[in-house]
Amino acid sequence: MSEPKSKPDSSRRAFLAGAAVAASAALVGGLRPMTARAAGSKLPHLTDANAMAKSLDYTPNHNTVKTAQSPTYKAGEHCSLCRFFQGTPGQKSGYAGCQIYPGYSVNAQGWCASFSARS
Ligand code: SF4
Repeated sequence: MSEPKSKPDSSRRAFLAGAAVAASAALVGGLRPMTARAAGSKLPHLTDANAMAKSLDYTPNHNTVKTAQSPTYKAGEHCSLCRFFQGTPGQKSGYAGCQIYPGYSVNAQGWCASFSARS
């Protein structure tokens, strides 16, 4: 005699429903920081105290870039013209997030060796 096929019991269904809710919460929770990063105004300003920023010659003012030290710099390049900048393209002042430096904001008029022009 074989046992009848059983339907998923209520505890299993409850577990699956809970997992779905947890996954949704994690997704929504994960999106909020991205929104905050995009705004960037609340993030600490990046400085060369950050080892990666230092290694990539980040400066909050592109006019101070020394081409002998940063030979890839081309006059006029600055963060708000870079594809990694998360503020308003071309903004003249202020700070916003940068995809290269998560958790920090960069100056719209800054520059680093990871500069990549928006296409
Ligand atoms: S990657 Fe672009 S936006 Fe980020 S600091 Fe460097 S130049 Fe600025």
